[in-house]
Amino acid sequence: MTRQVLIVGASVGGATAATTLRAAGVETIMLERELVRPKPCGGALPPAAFNEFDIPTHLIDRTIHNCLIVSPSGQEARVAVTGTVASAEDDYVAMVRREVFDSFLRQRAQERGATLIHGTLIKLQVNRAGVQARYRDAKGDEYVLHADAVIGADGAYSPTAKFLGLKPLPRAIAIQERISLPPAKLARWEDTADLYLGREVSPDLYAWAFPKRDHIAIGVGVGPKHIHDVKQNLANLKRRLGSAIEGGEVLMREAHALPMHPRKHLAFDRAMLIGDAAGLVANTSGEGIYWAMKSGEMAAQTLAEYLEAPTAQNLRAYERSWRKRYGSMYAFLRWLQVWGYGNERQMEVFTEMCRNLDVQRLTFDSYMHKNMAPAPWLTQLAMTRDILVSQFRNYVGPRRTPLRELATAYSK
Ligand SMILES: Cc1cc2nc3c(=O)[nH]c(=O)nc-3n(C[C@H](O)[C@H](O)[C@H](O)COP(=O)(O)OP(=O)(O)OC[C@H]3O[C@@H](n4cnc5c(N)ncnc54)[C@H](O)[C@@H]3O)c2cc1C
Repeated sequence: MTRQVLIVGASVGGATAATTLRAAGVETIMLERELVRPKPCGGALPPAAFNEFDIPTHLIDRTIHNCLIVSPSGQEARVAVTGTVASAEDDYVAMVRREVFDSFLRQRAQERGATLIHGTLIKLQVNRAGVQARYRDAKGDEYVLHADAVIGADGAYSPTAKFLGLKPLPRAIAIQERISLPPAKLARWEDTADLYLGREVSPDLYAWAFPKRDHIAIGVGVGPKHIHDVKQNLANLKRRLGSAIEGGEVLMREAHALPMHPRKHLAFDRAMLIGDAAGLVANTSGEGIYWAMKSGEMAAQTLAEYLEAPTAQNLRAYERSWRKRYGSMYAFLRWLQVWGYGNERQMEVFTEMCRNLDVQRLTFDSYMHKNMAPAPWLTQLAMTRDILVSQFRNYVGPRRTPLRELATAYSK
């Protein structure tokens, strides 16, 4: 008998899961409510996403080879995007527009045989007999779909998780403006992406300026406790960027939630969660695109293997292999967010640490190539010494004055 899988959400995670299921010969339906407006996103991606998922690099707006990190007091760390083994070809951060990137993934899944339905999931029942989903199409008509299993790839507010009876995860909010700039002004970001730290732009995460082909995307992310101030944080970032973006035209304003930690379980009887729906966003960076794709691939591989008996016990093979490969990295990045962005003195320490060459290379190894190998112990020792010295300087020494208190120096 032909088995069929329903994927709710056909963004980066859902489309990757669909392509993987089709490669295993599984009948696949993607249900997606939004096919026009892009997913709000900074669109920064590691080379691993292109290499591992066979994605053409012509989808990239810009490749970035430098990062500028600016502390609350204006200390700068200029960081070359290079891992421990430098590679001229493979050392970069890709900047994409989600409308371009997601369309490619969705279309590829369709070309491989997945069916795309434009509609909104409004009810989901999962029981021993199978999966029954009710959806509403663009005209308001309602339909029912039947499947043997469901993958929830429906983002931070995941209706699939809700219908499975799971609690919502704590969520951060990120907002962004796309601002068109004349080439002379955009030249500042030709090959560089900026990260800004400071209470006024983000009390517990960071703010960014990411260049695209013809515009700059500037945004801020804040944790659940600071959501009410997020618009003011963005206004403060624009003030901090000052003349660099003056006269630019706002092309788009966008905002969305990001989950703050992974769910306890990622698989259930006949159901799996991937990407943001599963809480798989890296805390320190807010990186979620690669992780949605990777979890989509891993979940789909497991589901294809157990489609004859999609019990929670069998499908949790996905959850176990995810935890084995990435569990400790997620726990570390969660700790790093609290450690690095916890208060402004700590943000100064974080910026100073970003000047350390070993820290830079290890960070980019793990970001660009998802290579999680620990550093040699001598390197670890040297990094620990540098952190302690920086902590001492920033906590025992005088407080560095935040830029916002230096009115004249505020507009850099
Ligand atoms: C402002 C901002 C900036 C970010 N910047 C970056 C970045 O630079 N790099 C990075 O790696 N990550 C970034 N992220 C995180 C990244 O966008 C997400 O982690 C990633 O998109 C998750 O992919 P996903 O497939 O799990 O879910 P999503 O991309 O959220 O997709 C979920 C899909 O489900 C659909 N859906 C939802 N409900 C229903 C329903 N009822 N019926 C049918 N369909 C439904 C939605 O329309 C959507 O298409 C950013 C996030 C935000 C908010």
